[in-house]
Amino acid sequence: MQKNDVNDILSKAERYLRQQEELFGDSLYRGKADAPAARPAKAESWMGAGTLAALNEEICTCMKCPLGETRTKFVFGVGNPTSRVVFIGEAPGADEDAQGEPFVGRAGQLLNKIIEAVGLKREEVYICNILKCRPPNNRAPLPEESASCTPYLMKQLDLIKPEFIICLGRTAAQWLLQTTDSLSVMRAKVHDYRGTKLIVTYHPAALLRNPEWKRPVWEDMKMFKKLFDEAKA
Ligand code: SF4
Repeated sequence: MQKNDVNDILSKAERYLRQQEELFGDSLYRGKADAPAARPAKAESWMGAGTLAALNEEICTCMKCPLGETRTKFVFGVGNPTSRVVFIGEAPGADEDAQGEPFVGRAGQLLNKIIEAVGLKREEVYICNILKCRPPNNRAPLPEESASCTPYLMKQLDLIKPEFIICLGRTAAQWLLQTTDSLSVMRAKVHDYRGTKLIVTYHPAALLRNPEWKRPVWEDMKMFKKLFDEAKA
């Protein structure tokens, strides 16, 4: 190789290295061992909320799943923030989506009667859904929507610290208990949900369509009332 050829190659190499240095700085010369340590993912700000009101404020504009695009109103939950019992349904319906409050339509009125039948008032308990936004046409929640929204429910439960959860309907119960059991298999027994007693019963909307299910619901609520009173004593 001629001396001129060598000089040409060296000058091209130098030009190339200068360009790379301009683009990447001195990191170009650092090995893996010098790379900055990976930082833990930044906690989302809602995780640190200390009250239900603060949590609502943090998450009410959520767009984590496509239901954020189609909702009319975000439906956080309603009731006593220190209630001993939380009623959980699957998702807001049309009335709830319009008003921003869970269980306000005909099913909600029936739920109020169920709550009163065990000597409590709507404002004494806490009521919410797994999903905070309405699925279009009241379709069942998709697993990925429930997965996106469930951390908010967990945080609500962490703040309320209920002794009892009443799960309304098959869909909500199957999701929380991570089972494919039918509602008739899940009801009439006490489950453990992260250390909280969980009772499954029919959704009030299903009761409106099937009045013959009123008796099993009454049996479930009597079982709840007995445990509720015993725990208080
Ligand atoms: S359903 Fe839940 S996760 Fe999806 S946008 Fe609404 S609040 Fe966010």
